[in-house]
Amino acid sequence: MDSIILKDFEVLACHGVNPEEKVDKQRFLITAEIVTDFTSASETDDISNTVSYSELKKDIKAFCDENSFNLIETLGVKIAERILKKYAGVKCVELTVKKPDAPMSGNFDYAGVKISRKWHRVYLSLGSNLGDKNGYLDLAVNALKADDNFKGVKESKRMRSAPYGGYATEEFLNSVVECETLYNPRKLLAVLQGIEDEGGRDRTVVHWGNRTLDLDILFYDREVICEKDLCIPHPDMVNRFFVLYPFMEFNCNFVHPVLNKRMSELYDYYKNNKIRYC
Ligand code: ADP
Ligand code: MG
Repeated sequence: MDSIILKDFEVLACHGVNPEEKVDKQRFLITAEIVTDFTSASETDDISNTVSYSELKKDIKAFCDENSFNLIETLGVKIAERILKKYAGVKCVELTVKKPDAPMSGNFDYAGVKISRKWHRVYLSLGSNLGDKNGYLDLAVNALKADDNFKGVKESKRMRSAPYGGYATEEFLNSVVECETLYNPRKLLAVLQGIEDEGGRDRTVVHWGNRTLDLDILFYDREVICEKDLCIPHPDMVNRFFVLYPFMEFNCNFVHPVLNKRMSELYDYYKNNKIRYC
């Protein structure tokens, strides 16, 4: 991968928790390292195929001027996310915000924060088995598309499947969504639960019962998370044809990070044996 670097770019702005920092501008030194791919820029020698460092500098300056945050943590994260949202080819942003004149005693070079943000590739499972099932899946896909912390939202074809898990009684409509997100896994789960709530999800119903809308995280990059209320990769996906089948539309060569098998192998195994791979 290739990087564009803007080092210790000075801006005068009003960020800090003290009242005087909200009125008196002080110096901030910002370093941004933008990870991208120079292949097409170098082949065409055309600035429109890269990130212009002068435009980047202008953007950062404008953002620092137009806002006033208590924390340089907030400032840094928001700048990093803004860069990722604005410039399509940027995969990752490393950002340092230094405050050389931070109001505290003693000799120091600067107080600062270092931030690293990137787009994460995620796969989600969508399901509905009550009411207007197509309408609920539409609601979910539209909510993802309307949120600029997601990009490249692609839904598989929808498939109907028999009730699953022993409690649900109505036929399901299911699909898989591939997208990229800036949310971390926990925040992503909370956002998906918010969308389920918008879809009228009744959480008093038994686990695996009938539901208007169910959104599960199948994969989050190649991360493995084993916590009480968050398990990624989703442990039950290998038992779910309505996940394995639509997933084949995306990346059948994706390697499950726990089972260390391609998704196509897990799909074939399920199809041939009607039981999970283990
Ligand atoms: P399921 O989706 O397995 O049919 P539920 O939707 O009833 O079951 O389960 C919801 C709970 O599962 C949530 O409260 C959530 O905390 C937990 N959970 C654990 N891992 C995941 C995941 N990868 N995606 C979504 N929910 C998860
Ligand atoms: Mg669920």
